[in-house]
Amino acid sequence: EEEKYASLRGKACKTQDHIEVELIANISQIKDLDFIIKSDARSVGLFRTEFIFMDQDRLPTEDEQYEIYKKITTAMSQGYVTIRTLDIGGDKESPLFDIPKEDNPFLGYRGIRLCLEEVEIFKTQLRAILRASVHGKIKIMFPMIASLTEIRQAKSILETCKQALDLEGKTYDKAIEVGIMIETPAAVVMADVFAKEVDFFSIGTNDLIQYTMAVDRSNLKISALYSQYDPAVLRNMKIIAEAANKENISVSICGEAAADIKLLPYWLGIGIHKLSMSVALIPEVKWTISQMTSTQGIEVVEALSKAGDVREVLKGLDLTAL
Ligand code: PEP
Ligand code: MG
Repeated sequence: EEEKYASLRGKACKTQDHIEVELIANISQIKDLDFIIKSDARSVGLFRTEFIFMDQDRLPTEDEQYEIYKKITTAMSQGYVTIRTLDIGGDKESPLFDIPKEDNPFLGYRGIRLCLEEVEIFKTQLRAILRASVHGKIKIMFPMIASLTEIRQAKSILETCKQALDLEGKTYDKAIEVGIMIETPAAVVMADVFAKEVDFFSIGTNDLIQYTMAVDRSNLKISALYSQYDPAVLRNMKIIAEAANKENISVSICGEAAADIKLLPYWLGIGIHKLSMSVALIPEVKWTISQMTSTQGIEVVEALSKAGDVREVLKGLDLTAL
């Protein structure tokens, strides 16, 4: 096992017919950075910034955040770092925020919704990210987007931050890319429109499964409904990939399903060639892709196109598996 993985280390991840798939890292804690540096990932597809807002009893300052973003960006000098702006709320609680008790926290005040209200907190983070962008390649990503208005508001606040930095004579990457997470059904349905507004999509399957199936991801009673193999979820993934590819913007997956071995041919088949995951999973994913052909991807998409439920999806995946 270990040996077959080791032989691929340092090489690009490619199928048998030389289609390249970019495997990049998810990071949720700065203490994981060493592990990431030692891994095979050259870039970060999802840097969850929530930990910066959970570990202490006050809000982090702009300089404190800048140092963290600078550190990770400098460390990943061969690639880029996708920094997701604060995604507090739902299952990610923080004592620093005054989130009212809600009946449905997953449908509540969270992610970009909170940032667009707490504009000063949002600006502090955006300024820190912009300032860090002179130390390497950074991409900015907004979470929990459900409407075009949110995208435009977030981008307009980002512009305000850039102008303020210009006036202060502080430098940043003027061409910094801005993307969104696709993790609500509204964003799936609107993907063709949203694709014209941003530089990239990253699919948050953890939340997208929950919202597509209307099943709380932490409720065990109904956990059977929470499945990346549900055809409703897979159809949503296909819609997103097609919208991104039509507009020629980058599309990746950064939820857990990115590393699902059974689904790798499907991801390639619908046109997703970038997967972000916990780095411990990269060797097996890389090896599996190295055994595949892109034709297999096309076949699996065809085989699943009429699948009606999870059982039929799994049957289709097994039939077309290696
Ligand atoms: C997701 O929802 O799939 C995701 C990557 O974000 P998080 O798990 O942090 O909500
Ligand atoms: Mg999410």
